[in-house]
Amino acid sequence: MSTYSQEKLHGALKHFFGYDEFRLTQLPIIESVLAGKDTLAIMPTGAGKSICYQLPAMLLPGITIVISPLIALMKDQVDALVANGIYAAFLNSSQSQEQQQQVVRDAQNGNIKLLYIAPERIPANSDSFFSFLKGLNPSLFAIDEAHCISSWGHDFRPEYLKLAVLKKQFPELPVIALTASADKVTQQDIVARLALHQPRIFISSFNRPNIHYFIRQKKDVFGYILEYIKKHKDDCGIIYALSRASTEGLAGKLHEAGIKAAYYHAGMDSAERSKVQEAFQRDEYKVIVATIAFGMGIDKSNVRFVIHHDVSKNVEGYYQETGRAGRDGLRSDAILFYSFGDIMKLRRFAEVEGNPQQSAISRRKLELMQQYCEHEGCRRQYLMEYFGEQFPAYCGSCDYCTSSLEEKDATVDAQKLLSAIVRTGERYGAGYIIDVLRGSASEKIDPAHKELKTYGIGKNLKKEEWQWMVQQLLYHHFIDKTEDQYVTLKLNEKGWKILKGESELKLVMKKEKEPDLQEESPEYDQQLLKDLKSLRLDMADREHVPAYNIVADNSLIELATYLPESFDELKHISGFGDYKISRYGSGFLQVIKRYAEANNLPSRMHFKKPKKGSTATVKKDKKDKPAANSTMQSTFAMFNDGMSVAEIAAQRSLSLSTIETHLAAFVTTGMLDISKVVSKDKLAKIMATIKMSGQTMALKPIKDLLSDDYTYGEIRMALEYYKKVNG
Ligand code: ADP
Ligand code: ZN
Repeated sequence: MSTYSQEKLHGALKHFFGYDEFRLTQLPIIESVLAGKDTLAIMPTGAGKSICYQLPAMLLPGITIVISPLIALMKDQVDALVANGIYAAFLNSSQSQEQQQQVVRDAQNGNIKLLYIAPERIPANSDSFFSFLKGLNPSLFAIDEAHCISSWGHDFRPEYLKLAVLKKQFPELPVIALTASADKVTQQDIVARLALHQPRIFISSFNRPNIHYFIRQKKDVFGYILEYIKKHKDDCGIIYALSRASTEGLAGKLHEAGIKAAYYHAGMDSAERSKVQEAFQRDEYKVIVATIAFGMGIDKSNVRFVIHHDVSKNVEGYYQETGRAGRDGLRSDAILFYSFGDIMKLRRFAEVEGNPQQSAISRRKLELMQQYCEHEGCRRQYLMEYFGEQFPAYCGSCDYCTSSLEEKDATVDAQKLLSAIVRTGERYGAGYIIDVLRGSASEKIDPAHKELKTYGIGKNLKKEEWQWMVQQLLYHHFIDKTEDQYVTLKLNEKGWKILKGESELKLVMKKEKEPDLQEESPEYDQQLLKDLKSLRLDMADREHVPAYNIVADNSLIELATYLPESFDELKHISGFGDYKISRYGSGFLQVIKRYAEANNLPSRMHFKKPKKGSTATVKKDKKDKPAANSTMQSTFAMFNDGMSVAEIAAQRSLSLSTIETHLAAFVTTGMLDISKVVSKDKLAKIMATIKMSGQTMALKPIKDLLSDDYTYGEIRMALEYYKKVNG
């Protein structure tokens, strides 16, 4: 089989879908499919399974047949593909005979790259169906929601069993089966029933790092929800409630409070339900208050929050519902209100009449849900371990981690401790070492040790804190405890590395101050984002598609952050493939231009790193000068004349952050000495924090780790400096 270089695959991802990077295991999955191997891809909902067959479909010569059970989702997927200029169509029972015949003709004429088929379209006599498929000359089969073939799965569909002969009919063609089902038995069952041939199996982590988990006691729920929604007034979200009546009640109260909210439950007729669902897809409703009937088939990528007004009956359901947030990969919140009363209520529902076995399972699941709500530890860790994945005790983005714990660099303190162990000859236990560190005047301390440099250097921590540190070092195997006559501490190889400064020690510690939930990030121009959204809505209305089909929210945020000025620059914005650029590019560029001129803002594209797969690179001026335009130059000139950032901002009627952005460009090139804009102490602290955040792409994670006296401008400049000195 032909091979595709990773470069080519990145190029295709950018060209067809406008994305810069593959997520999770997308790349190896795609390579496996293109190498002609049967493949089983297991990824959590929202992680991006579709690309795993859509991209190969674009590279393979013939048609790709996609079997998918969710009719509502099918249309969405096809619309999204068509919006990217890709020939796709579907066959399902929602279409008229004529429509179906048209699709069949198009497919037979080779005008379709991806054909979605609902399993119910496979007739009982599947032979004729398979000969129809043969006539289409397919290159690949994709079986979406593949767990539907397994009676072990949570959503068994007998029609899927018809797919069992697929491999017999098309032994040469690769099949990719996709599912979000984490369950091992189901996975094996999929492989067996589809008769996949030596399949390559890819399992991604079920962790959804962009979703932040919060649990709150159920008190003043409505007040809290209202405040939260008001604080996030541009965001969409789902509120789950247990009963139909309470969805209606809550939605009514929200509506009265001026929020565009609607309710949704299984008691409504189906026309009404799809009306609500569509209005939500189109951002006309910001908030849907729903029973768990809502969600199947929802493919809205910009759901920013999922609130559980009541406790869920099991962790699987809860996790699936929270998973509807943040499919676009942006920060999203999952907030659950917990009360023991809810558990009592659910316990009654858990009883399945005449089925003691089922009742016992439901009760057990509810118990685990209660345990999760009452868990004294990282929420994410609990969830991951529930689904059978190891996860560290600190995620940094759940209510437990953000309010009680934080990860700190403990290297210096560890070095003090290790040094004290070494200098006293590795002959003592923890108590003695700590006394030396804290400069104890006790007679028990060997006078020679009172002369040591390490004597008394540990006064910064309390005795208990040092004891805790010793435990941590033992626990993480940086020191060993040996018991000859007495217990003594000794360094091992890992410990020496820390002492010599060759490695660092990060420890999770109790935090000193309480942080807030989510605050808005001022990195992008809010007004511009609004303008772009309203343009997108116009485009969507004109084309009768949901707004996010035009481009996703995160693409708009990037536009409002980097202010691209040309088609070439647009290529660097996530979500803008070549087709979308040609179709929508000029509209967006116009809005940006108008806004940038009115506010005297330069393009900030130079802050965006060129990424793999893009065909263009951001132009840099010769001699490594910033791509500085006149407005940046005048800021720089005023700064060199001795004006402060605030003075320049005032004189030029620009915001502080704009001025700082201008100056940052000159830090990058070395024309501006960083110490003139950020104090030495602050710079050191920010640099350390950047390192700790482990990334240099985004400012917000760095800002979150610093106290409030660090501005975005300072961080931005320090970041530029950091990138410069670290190559
Ligand atoms: P799943 O089928 O796994 O639930 P989807 O395939 O619907 O998820 O993808 C979820 C969202 O993520 C979609 O909006 C999709 O366009 C987007 N997406 C997928 N892959 C990428 C990627 N590599 N980079 C950016 N966005 C992506
Ligand atoms: Zn956590």
